[in-house]
Amino acid sequence: MSKNKKIKAGLNTTLTHSAYLAPEQFSALPMAIHHASTVLFKDVAAMRARRWQDKSAYTYGLHGTPTSFTLEARLAEIEQGNHCLLAPSGLAAITLIDMALLQTGDDVLIPDNVYSPNRELGDWLSRSFGIKVRYYHPLIGAGIADLIQTNTKLIWTEAPGSVSMEVPDIPAICAAAHAKGVLVAFDNTWSAGIAFAAFEHGVDIVIQALTKYQSGGSDVLMGAVITQDATLNKRLQEAHMRLGFGVGMDDVYLVLRNLPTLKLRFDAHDASARKVAAWLASRPEISRVLHPAFPDCPGHEIWQRDFTGAGGLFSVIFDARYSEAQTDQFVNNLKLFKIGFSWGGACSLCLPYRIKQMRQDWPHDGILIRFNIGLEDTEDLIADIEQALASIL
Ligand SMILES: *Cc1c(COP(=O)(O)O)cnc(C)c1O
Repeated sequence: MSKNKKIKAGLNTTLTHSAYLAPEQFSALPMAIHHASTVLFKDVAAMRARRWQDKSAYTYGLHGTPTSFTLEARLAEIEQGNHCLLAPSGLAAITLIDMALLQTGDDVLIPDNVYSPNRELGDWLSRSFGIKVRYYHPLIGAGIADLIQTNTKLIWTEAPGSVSMEVPDIPAICAAAHAKGVLVAFDNTWSAGIAFAAFEHGVDIVIQALTKYQSGGSDVLMGAVITQDATLNKRLQEAHMRLGFGVGMDDVYLVLRNLPTLKLRFDAHDASARKVAAWLASRPEISRVLHPAFPDCPGHEIWQRDFTGAGGLFSVIFDARYSEAQTDQFVNNLKLFKIGFSWGGACSLCLPYRIKQMRQDWPHDGILIRFNIGLEDTEDLIADIEQALASIL
């Protein structure tokens, strides 16, 4: 058969193999969405020479494509880290850290105000995996030194707690931890990695729920684990592979697409939230505003010292004369604020929490309600809250 004569292939073969190659040198602003499970090697030797850990090339879809490598690099840059691993949710990112760094017999310290699924995970690790989990008061600061044992391997931190809003002294906790060779993991979701420079304040590992501000669309679940240290990243990377934490490239694209507006959106949420919080602080129905930029919030002075912004999430405590039935009525009667978990999207959200059931000790009697201030006009949000307060019977 002469070389220039086409092989006569069956239709199924033609449907799978095409000789067409699109012209090279296409250039456009958006990152391409590179979907792949299978990644191709030019020959067997190239396949054998590849190491999946090495991110200068590609091995298998689970370990990434140009699309996910780009998001990882950009997130590391935003956090001033050197390495980033993507996980299928923020909670998966938290799980990855525990699985990578803890083993039977180890001890881990978790703040009492932690994102509650992190606590669920901790309880599971202690029930079923022989890992000792202890909870500490979020405002413990340097006092954490007294809790560190020889088998303590990891201290979880979060600033502020995403329901009760206490702002912990992260530098003090990190200094005490490092003096005893303990790693500190920090959940930086509240400040989106742009209002708190976690590594500068001493943290070893940062997690982000990209589901919140980075996505911004209330449509993606994704998490990131970011580090500066290559050895630490290697331990996390091994666990990431063993757990099989892949992410979908369409979702990665959605996050990449919204990154350029991250700070603009965060600042808009922040400005509006402070106005709504200030208005709520003036209301007789509200006994406390738990917003880190307000003096009522435990750890406010630490927020002032360490943070450059606040975003859209804060809580209030209703006066103790209101029953849960009444505050439920308030939440139900809001029109612009929807009832739902998560935050960081354009739509304002509101949720009541049964916080006494979530915490070892909680000093307030009034009902806690959390607001996520979206991107609607602030006056309309305030008017909505005003009518819902007036509707309480
Ligand atoms: C939402 C959230 C997470 C988990 O993110 P998911 O993607 O929903 O799993 C973790 N930490 C904090 C503080 C969060 O708000």
